[in-house]
Amino acid sequence: KPTALLVMGMAGSGKTTFVQRLTAELQMANLQRPPYVVNLDPAVADLQYPANIDIRDTVNYKEVMTQYGLGPNGAIMTSLNLFSTKFDQVLSLIEKRSPDHDHVIFDTPGQIEVFTWSASGSIITETLASTVPTVILYIMDVAKCTSPVTFMSNMMYACSILYKTELPFVIVLNKSDIVNHAFAIEWMRDYETFLDAINQEESYISNLSRSLSLVLDDFYCDLKAVGFSSVTGMGMGDLMEKITDARKEYFDDFLPELERKR
Ligand code: GDP
Ligand code: MG
Repeated sequence: KPTALLVMGMAGSGKTTFVQRLTAELQMANLQRPPYVVNLDPAVADLQYPANIDIRDTVNYKEVMTQYGLGPNGAIMTSLNLFSTKFDQVLSLIEKRSPDHDHVIFDTPGQIEVFTWSASGSIITETLASTVPTVILYIMDVAKCTSPVTFMSNMMYACSILYKTELPFVIVLNKSDIVNHAFAIEWMRDYETFLDAINQEESYISNLSRSLSLVLDDFYCDLKAVGFSSVTGMGMGDLMEKITDARKEYFDDFLPELERKR
């Protein structure tokens, strides 16, 4: 069975660019077994990669706006809801094509909450994860996380997704061509270095940050994180290693738990 890769992250973190890069790299590595790519963003203007399944072929988000009298956010949400009712068809397509692919990549809507805080996002994630080994790739814009407070809020969001889905998780520290990701790895590995950075920022929020970082320390324990650049492809080898580990985690931890709950 192929590994399903659910690509999530804040708006502008580089999800779509990442999917484009990953698709190109995997294709180059093995022309016979290219990834199967699914676009779940109804509002993307022009896709930089060839999608095997595209939500825009099923729902027209501009039409949803006029038809239901919605603003852009409501229309994106409604489009995803409409699409999720047909997700069983997507799954059967994936299953049919699964002998020919090692990876199925999902790009998600620009605004993260459309996917993480909606019933349709949960339905898609849960049904996918009960059908194929699924790994979440959480894309972080490392250039925007050089402030410890921003870094921490982004990590809190990652943490909430992890605890909600309980799926194997890889943090992709993207845009490391702009800012080297070493500082982020250091903050995750060594609590003291993060505290030092917090202490240099004098604000009421730094007290809160100190307390929260203790909570996050637990979350970091066996968290997989890799530096990556969707522009240059740097970090590809490391990323593939982490994906292999995460897939193993799906079979060792997630699947037995899922079967126990059934
Ligand atoms: P999305 O909203 O998460 O899908 O983000 P996009 O893929 O649309 O990317 C947002 C912006 O970040 C675009 O201008 C991309 O060119 C840029 N970008 C994405 N990944 C990288 C990267 O690794 N390095 C650099 N320098 N820019 C990137
Ligand atoms: Mg996008």
